Amino acid sequence: KLYNQVQDLKGSIRVYCRVRPFLSGQTNCLSTVDYIEDGNITIITPSKYGKEGHRSFSFNKVFGPSASQEEVFADTQPLIRSVLDGYNVCIFAYGQTGSGKTYTMTGPKELTEKSQGVNYRALNDLFLLSEQRRDTFLYNVSVQMIEIYNEQVRDLLVTDGLNKRLEIRNSSQKGLSVPDANLVPVASTSDVLELMNLGQRNRVVGATALNDRSSRSHSCLTVHVQGRDLTSGTILRGCMHLVDLAGSERVDKSEVTGDRLKEAQHINKSLSALGDVISSLAQKNSHVPYRNSKLTQLLQDSLGGQAKTLMFVHISPELDAVGETISTLKFAERVA
Ligand code: ADP
Ligand code: MG
Repeated sequence: KLYNQVQDLKGSIRVYCRVRPFLSGQTNCLSTVDYIEDGNITIITPSKYGKEGHRSFSFNKVFGPSASQEEVFADTQPLIRSVLDGYNVCIFAYGQTGSGKTYTMTGPKELTEKSQGVNYRALNDLFLLSEQRRDTFLYNVSVQMIEIYNEQVRDLLVTDGLNKRLEIRNSSQKGLSVPDANLVPVASTSDVLELMNLGQRNRVVGATALNDRSSRSHSCLTVHVQGRDLTSGTILRGCMHLVDLAGSERVDKSEVTGDRLKEAQHINKSLSALGDVISSLAQKNSHVPYRNSKLTQLLQDSLGGQAKTLMFVHISPELDAVGETISTLKFAERVA
């Protein structure tokens, strides 16, 4: 059964929608979500956003506000396994700021074992599986963590606080990579936790209260896996990118200027470039426009071909978020 699941995912794009619950303190709030059934979600559109009514969207899966981290990960697991078989995988978290992207990928601020997100669970799984296969394969796992902010790539795994600008390079041997970003070997989940904490700390450097940079940059945890078949000596290489995208909210051009406008334009450009790449892959177009942003350049080897892509689209349940919710779901519908 598992084998079939993996086969089904071969070279595929899946889209999962996740609805954030109301937060503590938000009592008696009405939700934009009318109902969720299988892969369908129906949104109530109040009259202030045009015609009052309902809109339905379909995805591979919809997780309601009560879905646990464990349930969400259960449907992600087959992808993780395929990394050990030498496939490339990309997992994205998309949505407006506050919709739960970081919660899905990393977890809440006060992390517990139960609330750990996809990143930790994915690595934990890699370690467990590689241990199970140790009579036949020898695996090496190492990670990089970078940030893309204003179309500039920076290393998040630096200890000197200086996250200098890095180049994306293309070599016939290694494909696309960021060779100058620290590549750190990891052997256990505690190693990974330590690195994720370091990355998180570096990500907030330069952020002020008004200026939460983490919501306006893409962060990418890349896991490189190399497996040596102990009998044949064959080397398998797989790679997994776990991407917490910048907030997708539209910024009113009449209200922002200067740096804030520049940031907004960069985000807009890179998210639409990502949408264009995924939708042209979904439509099996012969030309895939990878070159339009740093993000799609960096992920070129892991988007399309035999690679597997999973996009989590997040929505906030509040009625006043309905405009962003509809545009998020439209984006997702386009890439599904
Ligand atoms: P984003 O990264 O998209 O800006 P966050 O992940 O930071 O959003 O989520 C915003 C707030 O909502 C955080 O306090 C987070 O802990 C909480 N939250 C998000 N998703 C969930 C969820 N599924 N269950 C409980 N709390 C959540
Ligand atoms: Mg976030």
